[in-house]
Amino acid sequence: MSYQFNNFYELIVYHAKKRKNKTALFVDNEKISYGELLSKADRLAGFLAEKGVKEGDRVALFLRNSPEFIYTVFAASKLGAILVPVNTFLKEEELSYILEDSGSSVLVASAIHDKVVNYSQASRLCRFILWEGDVLVEGEQHHYFEEAFRSDKTTEHIQRGLEETAVIIYTSGTTGKPKGAMLSNKNILSNADSGRRTINVTAKDRGIVFLPMFHSFTFSIGVILPLYVGASIVIIKSLQPFSNIFKQTLLKQVTIFFGIPDVYNALAKAKLPWYFMWFNRIRAFISGAAALQPKTLEAMANKFKRATLLEGYGLSEASPAVCMNTFKKQKAGSVGTALYSYEMKIVDENMKELLHGEIGDIIVKGDNVMQGYWKRPEATAETIVNGWLLTGDMGYMDEEGFLFIVDRKKDLIISKGINIYPREIEEVIDAFAGVKASAVVGVFDEKHGEIPVVYIELEEGTESLDEAGLKKYLREQLANYKVPKQIHVIDELPKNATGKVLKRVLKEKLKQSKEA
Ligand code: AMP
Repeated sequence: MSYQFNNFYELIVYHAKKRKNKTALFVDNEKISYGELLSKADRLAGFLAEKGVKEGDRVALFLRNSPEFIYTVFAASKLGAILVPVNTFLKEEELSYILEDSGSSVLVASAIHDKVVNYSQASRLCRFILWEGDVLVEGEQHHYFEEAFRSDKTTEHIQRGLEETAVIIYTSGTTGKPKGAMLSNKNILSNADSGRRTINVTAKDRGIVFLPMFHSFTFSIGVILPLYVGASIVIIKSLQPFSNIFKQTLLKQVTIFFGIPDVYNALAKAKLPWYFMWFNRIRAFISGAAALQPKTLEAMANKFKRATLLEGYGLSEASPAVCMNTFKKQKAGSVGTALYSYEMKIVDENMKELLHGEIGDIIVKGDNVMQGYWKRPEATAETIVNGWLLTGDMGYMDEEGFLFIVDRKKDLIISKGINIYPREIEEVIDAFAGVKASAVVGVFDEKHGEIPVVYIELEEGTESLDEAGLKKYLREQLANYKVPKQIHVIDELPKNATGKVLKRVLKEKLKQSKEA
């Protein structure tokens, strides 16, 4: 495949020339043109360069949705630095782990997060912190965007190529600790381009971004894709009530709505004012990150006659989109067909291709497949085999190439569209006094999609579990959404012959106790 741009910075230079005064970003009552976007990114790049950021450095983003997030993306690209978007729900320990593992030299953070995170460790790990938001902390190590924008320092564009790493996104791991998926310029630009073809995105479109930008789906499809074609993005700054999202959708005449199944479930049920139903300009609802229920698809189709809900599937390691339903054809329960130029296969454990309808491992090949895991060659070799990415998901394909996801092999729990990795929670719980072993499983929950529940086996000689103490400890160690909502003590965890905990047995147990 040939590419129009070699890196993110080139695309913004191109559009700033071609459509200088066109609005690139809408945020609250402000409009930011492509020209302004480039000029802010340039100033920021100059400032970062002055502070010592150079090619290959990692720049961690712990930012709420904001124009500053986007300025940093292009400024880092100009410098040839690598972005590390971090989930802003993480607590200090989790953030520190990522800062340390990625070796980030700068942390770009929202000042509002200072309320939940004490940045002492981050200050030790990084050379400086650049804050978005109100001035909260003074000191040499702390800078603010305002200061950066006042800077008149200029810097050269370090022309990084398509094959160079542009982003490292942290995702699940077998050890329980997240691993950094290294995504090149090509990986992400390819995903934006393939996504563009399916959703038919043009410069006339306006996409709304309220899902967090640190997530791979929002990053590539919600942010890079619209800017890649010179379209506009309506930014919703942080978690806001639905009513405001819809108000903005209407006011800014949004044409593409990026959501997750929870949002569509709520939208399908919501009573929206008649004028919204009449005057909205939405032509496509895009859903990803978790399974969409067929009944939601149907309810949405009945409610929005002029728009199509397109479900897709992907994973961080695939930058992230792999397949999607199309305007021409959607199948309920399916995540669609492979995107332009990508290949998808269902195989058995020996990598032998299976027949239509047979369930097996989903593997993917294409320019979207990550370069590998940051500093983890062994994990990379286990995940990319002969150029094929082993997704860790199981499913089957029909005769028309439509993919149906059956299960997540890796036992990932998805709560409100956000991933929870059981191993990570288990490692924290296993360190608690009196705990021999634990197993975290996800159970269905009306509101969240899934919630984590833990089964604990106590150490010999331990009479009972200090449940209140454990809960307090977990709240200190983990982001709230990862803290198990139920704690069950069990005599012995069910295991297979090789000592692996049989999670499906635990899930079954939960189901039975619920029914009883
Ligand atoms: P992440 O790497 O954080 O983006 O998580 C990727 C995982 O989310 C995939 O491996 C799937 O298990 C799951 N996933 C993504 N999209 C869908 C979908 N449409 N239906 C079911 N599972 C999905």
